[in-house]
Amino acid sequence: MTLPPVSATTTPDPALAYRDDLIAAGLLIPTGVDGLYGRSALFESVVTGLDDAVTRMAAGDGAEVMRFPPLLTREAFIASGYLKGFPHLAGTVHSFCGNEAEHHRMLAAIDRGEDWSQHERPADVVLTPAACYPIYPVIAGRGKLPDQGALVDVFSYCFRHEPSVDPCRMQMFRMRENVRIGSAGHVQTFRDTWRGRILGFVERLALPGALDVANDPFFGRAGKLMAEGQRDQQLKFEILIPVTSESNPTACISLNYHITHFGEIWPLRMADGELPHSSCVAFGIERLTLALFRHHGFDPATWPAGVRAELWPSP
Ligand code: 5GP
Ligand code: ZN
Repeated sequence: MTLPPVSATTTPDPALAYRDDLIAAGLLIPTGVDGLYGRSALFESVVTGLDDAVTRMAAGDGAEVMRFPPLLTREAFIASGYLKGFPHLAGTVHSFCGNEAEHHRMLAAIDRGEDWSQHERPADVVLTPAACYPIYPVIAGRGKLPDQGALVDVFSYCFRHEPSVDPCRMQMFRMRENVRIGSAGHVQTFRDTWRGRILGFVERLALPGALDVANDPFFGRAGKLMAEGQRDQQLKFEILIPVTSESNPTACISLNYHITHFGEIWPLRMADGELPHSSCVAFGIERLTLALFRHHGFDPATWPAGVRAELWPSP
């Protein structure tokens, strides 16, 4: 498989060149910060097509739809353990809570170009790092799970502090997820079902995707061991698609198995009192959109009929 050439030739970095092309075509709107972009109507039409295609794939599963703003309670965020594994990616929210005199001091510090962070205090919310994070405390708060467990459909912007010129590495991007919480058997069936579905999906989108075992970018020396354990136990699989590099393809969909991690954090229990297992399938909507533009061109009207039918089926 050979990636089509990028047209911007002023830079030898293919990720930067692809970003330049996307900006020149008006698909991404630059803000001056790497990884933070506006999206055009055309870009959003593909986003909507992908979102709807995921809905159709899961139709009949009976998932409960939940939509949260891209914020998590600080309490839920700390309990999730995210700061242990990924302190470098977290985005916390801080707000000014002082009086008028303190307000003047803060503005003066900003005018002088000084660090003004001491004038703000942590808010009781943080930016959501993954779309499924808000649901575990909600499900736990309902009491014991029903016999059939739980199945939830979530969609949210997510934040990760990793500024990059690679358009596939955004600081804020959308993640559509289906999350299964239940017995080991329920979760195994969910993983098997979605493994087949995501492979079929990328094939119908005519994208050169391959499923591979993966690990998360855990922080530090202890993180290296966590990443190795995740790989060895095959807890995470990703659909990798070349977008800005053939040798380093981009993870566009992930299938994660948390074993009983979230049940241990939140008081999630099966009807019989056992700890439930959980798994989620996460579609990186911007990455899939960028993969489609890269492989099929910037004009969706000219995309292969099968790809268009998958995204925008005729009524
Ligand atoms: P994970 O939680 O597995 O790291 O991420 C879930 C999905 O979100 C990934 O499979 C990927 O498609 C998407 N994703 C992860 N990080 C980024 C990122 O930095 N930028 C974008 N656009 N998508 C990401
Ligand atoms: Zn998830």
